[in-house]
Amino acid sequence: MKAMSAPSAIRYAIVPKSPAAHLFEVTVTVSNPAPGGQRFTLPAWIPGSYMVREFARNIVTIGATCRGRKVALDKLDKHTWQAAPCKGTLIVTYEVYAWDLSVRAAHLDDTHGFFNGTSVFLRVEGQEHAPCEVDILRPRGAAFKAWRVATALAPADGTAALDFGRYLAVDYDELIDSPVEMGTFVHGAFKACGVTHEVAITGPVPNLDLERLLRDMKKICEAQIRLFEPGARARAPMSRYVFLLMTVGDGYGGLEHRASTALLASRNDLPVQGQARMSDAYRGFLGLVSHEYFHTWNVKRIKPAAFAPYTLSVENYTRLLWLFEGFTSYYDDLMLVRSGVIEPSAYYELVAKTVANVLRGSGRLKQTVAESSFDAWTKYYRQDENAPNAIVSYYTKGSLVALALDLTIRAQTRGQKSLDDIMRALWQRYGRDFYRGKPIGIEEDAVQPLFEEVSGLDLSEFFATAINGTRDLPLAALLARMGLTLEPVTPQNGRPALGAKTTKRGDELALAQVLDGGAAQAAGLSAGDTLVAIDGLRVTAGNLDKLLERYRPGDRVTVHAFRRDELRETPLTLGAPEITQYRITESRERAAAQRREKWLGA
Ligand SMILES: [Zn+2]
Repeated sequence: MKAMSAPSAIRYAIVPKSPAAHLFEVTVTVSNPAPGGQRFTLPAWIPGSYMVREFARNIVTIGATCRGRKVALDKLDKHTWQAAPCKGTLIVTYEVYAWDLSVRAAHLDDTHGFFNGTSVFLRVEGQEHAPCEVDILRPRGAAFKAWRVATALAPADGTAALDFGRYLAVDYDELIDSPVEMGTFVHGAFKACGVTHEVAITGPVPNLDLERLLRDMKKICEAQIRLFEPGARARAPMSRYVFLLMTVGDGYGGLEHRASTALLASRNDLPVQGQARMSDAYRGFLGLVSHEYFHTWNVKRIKPAAFAPYTLSVENYTRLLWLFEGFTSYYDDLMLVRSGVIEPSAYYELVAKTVANVLRGSGRLKQTVAESSFDAWTKYYRQDENAPNAIVSYYTKGSLVALALDLTIRAQTRGQKSLDDIMRALWQRYGRDFYRGKPIGIEEDAVQPLFEEVSGLDLSEFFATAINGTRDLPLAALLARMGLTLEPVTPQNGRPALGAKTTKRGDELALAQVLDGGAAQAAGLSAGDTLVAIDGLRVTAGNLDKLLERYRPGDRVTVHAFRRDELRETPLTLGAPEITQYRITESRERAAAQRREKWLGA
């Protein structure tokens, strides 16, 4: 056996070389390159977003040197390079094009820079466990004097908080799990259960009520920390947490990381000074905050075995995204009401919306949430016009599965157990020590036994129907025990349905999605067709609903539509009004109210 010495650090440096050309320049310095020739790879996907994105396509130029001399760098496949053997320190320098204003990749212009390590840092094959140092350098020019840096990476000695300089990661996995924002962001902070949480807000937000935002975020974070670590010892799983929030005119998204999250939101979602009411938009934003923060436990530490560790060159298949995304989607809204940020009535509205959303697509009768999870790479993340007919979302259906399971456990154990107990058991057995030397994920077939052990219930029927089946969940019956009535809202005007979702195309109206079994499909219309007229009256982007309101279900109309440049005329029999809304109402029955209180903590 050979004595192992501590691996020497991999050193990275990244500089916004040309904000105008959206180019970062990155160098990676390897002091002990593999003797046979060092290989480097860039991830093909970013954890949390299950689609192969091939980030290496944004590497514009790349070269290597050793002791000041050029070293040949062979490209082996779409994201792998191999340097010729060399003795001494190997330096690879490359430019990355960064013009993707999302939470998933990298962006750079003269207003700010943002990057995920998966887009910019090459993996040094065989040295993934070596510690990493990264010099984050200020772009040259007077215009960037006021820029600062926000990241969950730890600043090295000599680097002040929020400043450019040297940052540290324990290994490559932490390096690429710690996105970096640079620019003139607004910075705020709060403590949740004793741990500092920072918020960096990029982009202009006039009259932002930062105090209210921080106050509400703190409540949500503390409620979640206490869910997983109840009692006096409530401790967050990280020593510091950073919210990186990019604000834009219109946008919504988030990506979870172990001690930070990148969020994208409309500035109009954020609270305005002097306005105390809870707008739907702000509630939606807090739901996003709650969702990504919940992932700190559920998927960043409690993980499927398929992600422990991730293999970032190819798809990583798991049938469990309903647990990692669906359950997170259940708790994101639940935590808003439990933390007191929203009222129970607002929570019911959110649940009713999810129910309506799931029940609208017939894909739910064809694909299980386990299958939806497995095929996320090619189906959920690559949806086409047929998606509502073919797939179910492991987010929305998954959140209803969690709701149904929570209410089932509460009912069958007479309130002694709940889904919270299952989340805590997952946390204690898999999550708590994940970054403390026990990186074990949960095997696919270990989930049901664990749920059964913790709840003390036989859940085989539940798993067969809710997870591995397509039958609709008995939500109305389960909610009834909580004194809640779930019912469809019949459209008031009785407008018959076309059986299609439409989209504006200038002044014209096109069919975006044609629903299975609907009137449009029976009439031979397809997604992409442009509606021209109904019974000889012109259809425009704005008048379809009004036109349809003059008819009754079962009426036969003549539709003119263009498919590409060919005009079609077809008879169409209008369908029954579509149920697009559900409602949940509360009874005053005492025992049910007490059960609700225990569930919602309100
Ligand atoms: Zn998520």
